[in-house]
Amino acid sequence: METTKKVIQEVESCSAHNYHPLPVVIEKGEGAWVHDVEGKKYLDMLSAYSALNQGHRHPRIIDALVEQAGKVTLTSRAFHNDKMGPFLSKLCEISGFEKALPMNTGAEAVETALKAARKWGYQKKGVEENQAEIIVCANNFHGRTISIVSFSTEEQYRMGFGPFTPGFKVIPYGDAEALEKAITRNTIAFMMEPIQGEGGVIVPEKGCLAKIREITRENNVLLIFDEIQTGFARTGKMFAFQHEAAQPDILVVGKALGGGVYPVSAMLSNTEVMEVFKPGDHGSTFGGNPLGAAVGLASIQVLLDEKLEERSETLGEYFSKRLQELNSPYVKEIRGKGLLIGVEIKAECGKARPFCERLMALGVLCKETHDQTIRFAPPLIISKDEIDWALEKISTVLQDASQNISWEE
Ligand SMILES: *Cc1c(COP(=O)(O)O)cnc(C)c1O
Repeated sequence: METTKKVIQEVESCSAHNYHPLPVVIEKGEGAWVHDVEGKKYLDMLSAYSALNQGHRHPRIIDALVEQAGKVTLTSRAFHNDKMGPFLSKLCEISGFEKALPMNTGAEAVETALKAARKWGYQKKGVEENQAEIIVCANNFHGRTISIVSFSTEEQYRMGFGPFTPGFKVIPYGDAEALEKAITRNTIAFMMEPIQGEGGVIVPEKGCLAKIREITRENNVLLIFDEIQTGFARTGKMFAFQHEAAQPDILVVGKALGGGVYPVSAMLSNTEVMEVFKPGDHGSTFGGNPLGAAVGLASIQVLLDEKLEERSETLGEYFSKRLQELNSPYVKEIRGKGLLIGVEIKAECGKARPFCERLMALGVLCKETHDQTIRFAPPLIISKDEIDWALEKISTVLQDASQNISWEE
């Protein structure tokens, strides 16, 4: 544990303490597995918050990265590059949208969507200047910029960061009736995650997305789905909205679009929305760069060719069922879709973190979200055998939390 301690000490001494990572130092990753600096092997069941749906260092994605790195990596949007077109047209094809605007991180793509929606509201819906309202959900997570945390309901995300961006209204998550009531003539958009990831893997009632689609359409309000975490086969469909055929007006994607090797995000919409952007309205130096575009295209191709939607659906069902069958005395509820699964620990049994620490000691990496929930979101290329291996460890930890499992310090 010497090396681990030294690395962590160095990081602690020179970095901002804006995270509370588990005490494991990863040195190498391949497929669903990672190795730490001590040579210990772990099954990655977090996948960098679903940015690694294709697994660590997928050979086809790495090939695309290396090949493009040997040609040209960055042009800026001052010039064209030959990779952005093929990438965006593929992205539009698999999602059913006409236009795509590439960015880098998820938060930037969300900001892009908010800007597009506002401008659409003024130019196309005819809302009076600076009066546009966007409705969002309680317990949301859409990123960390000032505007985005302006409508967070998580006290810690906001505390000390005001003043905030106005123009947002919060309703309870998955509440179609509340949405209908909250809409005014100044409402230009409603934004939600089809499943709340950071919020604790919260799945709305069946039919909710379709109902929300109907309400927003009837009221000429843009529907924005943030599928940064739920997209790209994570929930058993290419996009979570496809479970209910609730095609939104704007879709925000990121994370797995870069295959876990490069930050690639995008906002997607039809032409009527996207055409509000004129040259100079919005941009990003790295957005749409040829390296990211090559990686993005390969990342999509891998999802399609390896049928990761089907894998996610089948293995997700299997994994959830086996977790239920553990009948753990510590578990309040198991939720999720596909390979996005939340295991909520009963409040009287303490927080989820100690369970994650014990799992880590047994070689399973996962992370708590919102204190009480363990999120299991392994790479979608994981095999059934690997899930069975993990289930053994999970069973040990969830059957008897009093067991003294620890890793040598
Ligand atoms: C991770 C995430 C974001 C933010 O993405 P970043 O790349 O970290 O900026 C936004 N929305 C959802 C739903 C996410 O899971």
